[in-house]
Amino acid sequence: MSTVGYRDFGAFLREHFTGKVQKISINAGFTCPNRDGKLGTGGCTYCNNQTFNPEYCNPGKSVTEQLAEGRRFFARKYPEMKYLAYFQAYTNTYGEMSGLRRLYEEALATPDVVGLIIGTRPDCVSGELLDYLAWLRGRGIFVLVEYGVETSRNDTLQLVNRGHTWEQSADAIVRTAVRGIMTGAHIIAGLPGEGAADVVQTARQLSQLPLSTVKLHQLQIIRGTRLARQVAAGEVAVVQWSVGEYISVCLDFIRNLSPSIAIERFTSQSPDGLLISPRWGLKNYQFTNLLQQAIARERVVQGEALAT
Ligand code: SF4
Repeated sequence: MSTVGYRDFGAFLREHFTGKVQKISINAGFTCPNRDGKLGTGGCTYCNNQTFNPEYCNPGKSVTEQLAEGRRFFARKYPEMKYLAYFQAYTNTYGEMSGLRRLYEEALATPDVVGLIIGTRPDCVSGELLDYLAWLRGRGIFVLVEYGVETSRNDTLQLVNRGHTWEQSADAIVRTAVRGIMTGAHIIAGLPGEGAADVVQTARQLSQLPLSTVKLHQLQIIRGTRLARQVAAGEVAVVQWSVGEYISVCLDFIRNLSPSIAIERFTSQSPDGLLISPRWGLKNYQFTNLLQQAIARERVVQGEALAT
């Protein structure tokens, strides 16, 4: 792409679907191997899973009920809408194969659900699971596995207790993509000890991988997390970007990311009562407007810095 801007998620979806498509988040009651002792305990230092889901998404309800509620919400305005079941909370491949199949197939049996997006950790996908997802893809079903990669720096991953390495992320993405399954990466900007140059480095490393999509968001310090306690005690250093500074980080991320990878978002907004910082006081759409203005002003082109 040589035009100003970046390839957004809407453009990516239009390459796969002719009409409108909306994600519906599901909390299917999974846990996380980095919390329950299988891989670690205590979880990632910044994690508070209460921030993951909208209100309709409650693990006390079945996958069918959650999708039906999400669908009712959106179908009022767009009756023709199709849906992607987004298995979002915790680690959505953490379970026995038979149970995973049952949940995914329950989602796919819901009217107007045309595909799956499955959020997980890179160390939690078996070959058997990937073969099954490849089989779904072979039947024309949209399947995207979204990996929590977070950063390309292994010392940071260790500091935040992720419990996996960058190499494991790269390996999982390749093992998924070679089977014809779409892959996504979730990245956090401003993890403890990291600055703008680290975000650029991660974008450049991601550009080497067979990724379909990436999500970037600013590190948020959430009440009740280990990170909040570490920052308060001065045990870890976290950059405090202003909105303008974070927009510069996003511009450099775009410049250093391969144009073959769609960018789904740049910010995340945790519930106000849980958020300690940053408190920019902007809605996601207001941030996006500021970012779009900066992209136009600086004539930013996705991937333009990769040749250098
Ligand atoms: S961020 Fe994800 S991997 Fe880390 S503890 Fe929370 S649910 Fe588990």
